[in-house]
Amino acid sequence: MSILYRSDAPRAAAWATFFAENAPDLDFRVWPDAGNLDEVEYLIAWQAPADFIAALPRLKVLFSSGAGIDHVDFSAVPEHIPIVRMVEPGIINGMVEYVSLSVLALHRDFFDYVEMQATGAWDPLEVPPASARSIGVMGMGVLGRAVLERLETYGFRLRGWNRSPRQMAQVECFAGADQLQPFLAGSDILICLLPLTETTAGILDHKVFSALPRGASVINVGRGPHLVDGDLIEALDSQHLSRAILDVTDPEPLPPEHPFWRHPRVFVTPHVASMTQPQTAAPILLDNIRKHQRGEPLLGLIDRERGY
Ligand code: NAP
Repeated sequence: MSILYRSDAPRAAAWATFFAENAPDLDFRVWPDAGNLDEVEYLIAWQAPADFIAALPRLKVLFSSGAGIDHVDFSAVPEHIPIVRMVEPGIINGMVEYVSLSVLALHRDFFDYVEMQATGAWDPLEVPPASARSIGVMGMGVLGRAVLERLETYGFRLRGWNRSPRQMAQVECFAGADQLQPFLAGSDILICLLPLTETTAGILDHKVFSALPRGASVINVGRGPHLVDGDLIEALDSQHLSRAILDVTDPEPLPPEHPFWRHPRVFVTPHVASMTQPQTAAPILLDNIRKHQRGEPLLGLIDRERGY
């Protein structure tokens, strides 16, 4: 039984060690030392080029090494091969940290104080209680719910928007296109944690920004193509929006000449909000392989029709 790891090279050793110690019956290979490709049954990959998938005649499952799946060309993967994304505590914790840090930095005006430090300005701003600030999360999936749970501990007012209706204690829940506008109207800080699909591409646009309260801020930790860049800059420059924190951009890396780099109220990080952690991800992936061997449902199975 062969598994091929073709992903983040610096972390390959940690994956290989885990499998050697915990699943000696499995032949764990690391790209480019793939051996005979005819023997590979499980592939762990970030990018999986179509011609490479075609070169694996015995492939049984394609595991994405990341939480998102938008980089995978479903049409290149034969219908009978399940595509599975990564659902693991390391990714969840990383996202909860990043979003908490971002929300608190906005809530407590840290970006204003960074600007003031440049001129030595001592100008205390009013500190509203967290209960006076409403945070809206788009996408109440694994990550959106984890973020909402953590933000609740700070006392923010919370709302979530999702494709299908959801219920969460202490969260005002909205669902579907009809309820997007009322959801936005009460979101002082908007967080995008949607998957990138045909429906959600370009969703962070002029219409969405106009529906937010004046002075609102936006955090995009979904995918770069969720955002219409020009619409964001316009909303910031017209003073309708206060700030934007972008962990994802289109394209990535963001070219040095892109206006986001120099905009005084845009803060960019290079897609680091959360990353798959081998220590927590490898046991979950092994568990998924065992499930597949027993014919049980897989954690993180993608619905090809839905697109995520
Ligand atoms: P998930 O568990 O699949 O959750 C996605 C949620 O979005 C689901 O609740 C889904 O609704 C909702 N949704 C999908 N399409 C929608 C639409 N058209 N309108 C409203 N809601 C919609 O995914 P996740 O694990 O939370 O991850 C979310 C995304 O975060 C990933 O796809 C990835 O793009 C991004 N991400 C970014 C980083 C980073 O470092 N920046 C790291 C990890 C993940 P249903 O309940 O109806 O299915």
